[in-house]
Amino acid sequence: MESMSKNDTVRLRKRHIGPSCKLFFKNDPIKIVRAEGQYMYDEKGQQYLDCINNVAHVGHCHPTVVQAGIDQMSVLNTNSRFLHDNLVICAKRLTSLFPEPLSVCFFVNSGSEANDLALRLARAHTKFNDVITLDHAYHGHVTSLIDISPYKFNLPGGGGKPEHVHVAACPDVYRGKYRDVDSSLDELGVKYANDVKEIIEKAKAGGRNIGAFIAESLQSCGGQVILPPGYLKQVYSHVRGAGGVCIADEVQVGFGRVGKHWWAFQLQGEDVIPDIVTLGKPMGNGHPVAAVITTPAIAQSFANTGMEYFNTYGGNPVSCAIACAVLDTIEQDCLRDKSARVGNHLMNCLRQLMDKHPIIGDIRGVGLFVGIDLVRDRESRKPATAEAQHVISRLKEEQILLSADGPYSNVLKIKPPLVFNQDNADRLVTLLDEVLTEIADSKLYADEHEQLERPGSVSPSETRKIYEIDPMAGQPNGKRKKLIEDIEAVKL
Ligand code: PMP
Repeated sequence: MESMSKNDTVRLRKRHIGPSCKLFFKNDPIKIVRAEGQYMYDEKGQQYLDCINNVAHVGHCHPTVVQAGIDQMSVLNTNSRFLHDNLVICAKRLTSLFPEPLSVCFFVNSGSEANDLALRLARAHTKFNDVITLDHAYHGHVTSLIDISPYKFNLPGGGGKPEHVHVAACPDVYRGKYRDVDSSLDELGVKYANDVKEIIEKAKAGGRNIGAFIAESLQSCGGQVILPPGYLKQVYSHVRGAGGVCIADEVQVGFGRVGKHWWAFQLQGEDVIPDIVTLGKPMGNGHPVAAVITTPAIAQSFANTGMEYFNTYGGNPVSCAIACAVLDTIEQDCLRDKSARVGNHLMNCLRQLMDKHPIIGDIRGVGLFVGIDLVRDRESRKPATAEAQHVISRLKEEQILLSADGPYSNVLKIKPPLVFNQDNADRLVTLLDEVLTEIADSKLYADEHEQLERPGSVSPSETRKIYEIDPMAGQPNGKRKKLIEDIEAVKL
């Protein structure tokens, strides 16, 4: 299935693809030629266990989804200005999975398009322009979303925070502004929600009004953050009290990843209902289809602006057939249940590892959305960034694909296709145990990590300095690797 050598692929990519498009494992990239279920295969037929691809939600190349695309593509594909059953059936099925009054659907092609449209809907409905976003958040690659993504606008070349954007503290109870050491989780929910309240009041005092609050229902990019109980309920109440609407970004965490519920915002309680929900990645299992779900009132305000909304590919019959097949598969293969079961097993095994490895500072997760926060020591919670990058690179050698997230890139993130099974979880934990033991034995990490104590993203030059310590230098087992480039983390 390889149409050219790996070297030629690299050469052509260097020549014709923009250098800002990053590869995983830049120094030794993997060329994937096919995938199935939770496995990916390189050009030599080497199998990799995929622990990070939350797009291939029901499993890479699931036959039901593939067949649905083939069948519809061979009959018709056209835009949504013609009546077509797939569009309305998909909208009905999707909205049936949401609480009232979330009954209206707009189909788009990516998470970014969904979030951009969500902002337009919010502004049309509230007539207010300002947006509250969470620190370290990422909501998409288009200009309007870089503006509300601290993860991007704080980077060199990011342009900084625009005036209409207000950044609330990331409600990370382990590493954030308020921590689990001196408050209960309920108190932390109140404290972090009050942060949003203060922002609203301050903005008002300065003559500005908040049109929207946007947050992932579990923050992926901030480091696999689980929101404290009561947080969204209180935040939504503060935001609505000020005339704004609440957007839940479920682009990464929706469609049953959290197991018990279809949507991660439901983890915050039955009475927590966003005004707008954005969906993407898993919705098409790799096919570009995404959506915005909202209320009839908000959809009407948008229509009242008088501007037509037309999206050439959004909601085409092929995309809708595929999205319906994904929903069928989640149900038929009992994937929500599986996510809960395997996720629990994985969390239990990881907690056991914690007894053995002081480098594991925190383990957090719901369903198959799990984060392992690596620390230099548990007291100070100093992020173990280089160690995390070393784990990722060693696991790659063991044919396991893992990645890191968070402002310090020290949180190992696990968010595999939901077909990930108990054996896969056991293999991951066994190898993680081995690699963490290697790190503990190497005793070569030095205090040069101090620079990471300040918040903000780790820049390439900083990671370079850190990695030059090279923890495996001099190791007799041949596992020494030079990974400076690789840890210019490709996070998303
Ligand atoms: N929201 C979140 C939370 C995301 O993680 C992403 C993509 N990583 C997006 C939105 C944007 O989605 P897309 O890349 O499909 O435009």
